[in-house]
Amino acid sequence: MTSANPSDPHDPLLDALLAQTGEAVLVAKAEDCKILRSNARAQDLLGWKEGELKKMDLGQLWPEQSSKELSALIDSLSAPGQSARFEGFLEHRDGFPFSCEFTCSTVEAGEPFYLITFQDVSDTVQAREDIALRNIAIANVTSGVTVADARQPDLPLIYVNKGFQDITGYSAKEAIGRSCRFLQGTDRDQLELEHLRKCLRNGEACIVRLRNYRKDGSLFHNELHISPVYSEKGELTHFVGIQLDVTEQVKAQESLQRSEKRYRQALEQEKELNDIKTRFISMVSHEFRTPMTGIRASAALLRKYGDKLQEAKKERHLENIDVSLKRMNRLLDDVLFFSQAESDKVKVSLKPVDLATYMPAFIERFSPIHPDREILSDCRIPEGNPYLLDEHLLDHILQNLLGNAVKYSGGESPVTCTVDESKTHLRFSIRDKGIGIPEADQKRLFEAFHRAGNVGARQGTGLGLNIVRRAVELLKGEIEFSSTENEGSTFSVSLPKHTESKGNP
Ligand code: ADP
Repeated sequence: MTSANPSDPHDPLLDALLAQTGEAVLVAKAEDCKILRSNARAQDLLGWKEGELKKMDLGQLWPEQSSKELSALIDSLSAPGQSARFEGFLEHRDGFPFSCEFTCSTVEAGEPFYLITFQDVSDTVQAREDIALRNIAIANVTSGVTVADARQPDLPLIYVNKGFQDITGYSAKEAIGRSCRFLQGTDRDQLELEHLRKCLRNGEACIVRLRNYRKDGSLFHNELHISPVYSEKGELTHFVGIQLDVTEQVKAQESLQRSEKRYRQALEQEKELNDIKTRFISMVSHEFRTPMTGIRASAALLRKYGDKLQEAKKERHLENIDVSLKRMNRLLDDVLFFSQAESDKVKVSLKPVDLATYMPAFIERFSPIHPDREILSDCRIPEGNPYLLDEHLLDHILQNLLGNAVKYSGGESPVTCTVDESKTHLRFSIRDKGIGIPEADQKRLFEAFHRAGNVGARQGTGLGLNIVRRAVELLKGEIEFSSTENEGSTFSVSLPKHTESKGNP
């Protein structure tokens, strides 16, 4: 039987064994660590030729900083049959150290030898170091980092870093194993969720902003960056998620948008106000001009022919002046009310009003302004039942509604004003058989300055119905109308019924 002899430089068995093994091998004398044999792999890794290695001892192959480790190792191998594995460094002929994994054993073959097998693990060590570094980095970034398992239904989380725990308040233990959707709580109706779901289904990357909720229930805005991870075989294995808490950014954006909106609204209001002012001035001056022209004409005639005119004609001119003044007075009243209402300055002052006496008195004041028109007033409220009303506001309502009924109907048809009551409300209905209101104009009738398309040459400011609506609102009532073009219109105002004992509305 042949046995290998490490001291024999020509031992063919040993040569065959050393060439056969895939690992690098060194054989050294235990006594002085002199290298006796090396295989091609070892020569290759170390950069020394076989003959050169034979002139060296083991200590020369270890970089200086590792020499202590080597002597400790050799000490531990002093007894034959012992072996040890460890990781350390060897030095290449060119002077650079490289990481190796060693197995060292003591072999007894007439005398003790060291058998050292080793392999270069620099790549593995480097990869391990890289991973450790990456782990430290991932664990310490302030953004949330999560990994979900894409091979399981519902994509459960298998990793969350500290950043995730800081942002959400959930510990790793509480989060791992759950699908990330628990962060949405019950707030599932989010547009961006649809996009996220679609990307997850298709294994695509995406960035979405979600409303998420911390463990304590508080809202935070989560900018979620999702990246799919594919195996070499192309199988989708994981989703990596980066969570950024962008709450402050979102709040700042929202507040910016709010101020922009407010600014735009203010600008629009300003523009609208300017518009109203311009139209107001032109409408009102136009409306004043007509009665003023009437007054001027009557006054001129009276001055010139006063003494020659018949009494009846004189009277007509004086009456014309009187009516024109009353109209101007009414117009001024409306203008004043409108400008006060625009700046919310109209005060409601409720006092007991007996409609059975108020209505005839009102008609008496109103009729002279339209001397040639018949106004039929029918008040069905018995005398002695005063209700709390604001006479000034009621005057505005009736004056405008009756004024319109007269203005927009022919001279021969009467205008009726009926007042009656239900259990809870007073109802004022003003009816005419006039031109009516085209359907297209009915929606905008209560807007200031809006006038229907069929008014023709009839004077008007377009303010009357707006004033009526405001006055009715101030009295907590309602206004409605029905109208058919060329047949006539009925405007009805209902006001809540309050007596003094029941108190103010
Ligand atoms: P105006 O000064 O033009 O009469 P109002 O605000 O009182 O302004 O009315 C707005 C518009 O509503 C009028 O221009 C007219 O087109 C329409 N309108 C109001 N009342 C009547 C009515 N009784 N019959 C027909 N049209 C009416």
